[in-house]
Amino acid sequence: MMINPDDLLFRIETRPRAQEYERRYLGASEIGEECNRKLWLKFHGYAQPEQFSDRMLRLFKRGIDEELRFESYLDSIGIEIVDTCRSQAGFKDGFFAGHGDGVYLIDGDRVCGEMKTHSVKSFATLKRGELKFSHPKHYAQCIVYTGKFNCKYALYMAVCKDTDELFFDCIPFNQEEFDAYLAKAEYITMADKPPERIATKPTAFACKFCHVKDICWGFEMPRVDCRNCTSATKHQEFASFGCDKIQKSNDLVKRSSNNQLDERGYCESHSFNPYAMHELQGWEPLEFHPQHRAVEYKKPDGETIINGEAPFGVPSKDLRA
Ligand code: SF4
Ligand code: SF4
Repeated sequence: MMINPDDLLFRIETRPRAQEYERRYLGASEIGEECNRKLWLKFHGYAQPEQFSDRMLRLFKRGIDEELRFESYLDSIGIEIVDTCRSQAGFKDGFFAGHGDGVYLIDGDRVCGEMKTHSVKSFATLKRGELKFSHPKHYAQCIVYTGKFNCKYALYMAVCKDTDELFFDCIPFNQEEFDAYLAKAEYITMADKPPERIATKPTAFACKFCHVKDICWGFEMPRVDCRNCTSATKHQEFASFGCDKIQKSNDLVKRSSNNQLDERGYCESHSFNPYAMHELQGWEPLEFHPQHRAVEYKKPDGETIINGEAPFGVPSKDLRA
């Protein structure tokens, strides 16, 4: 008897996978994102990381596999490869970090590479217009890596997954835009208050596919995480979060790792950043109780509540909208 192919496919697509590592930094691949609020909510752990289907993970893997092909094309025409796509030239600028797809020497110029796969539709828009407008996130990566890797320009390489057609473009460096991306990264990672929404209603097209939408518009309580706790401290120089309540020591060397955070992602003493609760849930902060690190609020229905460790307050995980 032959094996059932549907059963085989189901078993492959639902097989247990290694737990994805959750980024504790803001990536260069995200910095061109239009919505600052989405970046802020993600970076500060307000929403669960986006979950991808097996098909989407295969698509991402396809993009990674394609990098070797691009590199072989460059190599075959004698371009000197300084950093390969697998050596992943990277930069780390506090909480802002990224890994490029390669660095080359072309006619004496240092050039960084950015490699992408596209659907037919996306490939067509790429060929029609400037990268900056057709694919702003890709453009931002090109500018950031060019500046960070001390290159003259970026070589953008694209392949259409359906036809295998190639498209190459040179993206010149722009110092003003580079500075603006760094300033944006600093703002997203260091601001205590959530940035404004980019839309006036949750049904707006701009919000349609946003995975933090329910948190952003207050339909769901935020995820409890050390990064959004009143006791969390940020140490940009070490790209690390610390805790002022549990970890009283000011030993910054020890704080240079994410191990400073509670292993579960939070502890019973968690209380939410009051700026965020005001913005996301409309809860008005009334008083901070420093000895308990707890925050007292007035909810939109008039009820008052203390968020903090029990029995003094209501633990964050038990809060209801
Ligand atoms: S739902 Fe809209 S406004 Fe809110 S974070 Fe997402 S894109 Fe931004
Ligand atoms: S949740 Fe607990 S361990 Fe984490 S920052 Fe807050 S008090 Fe510290």
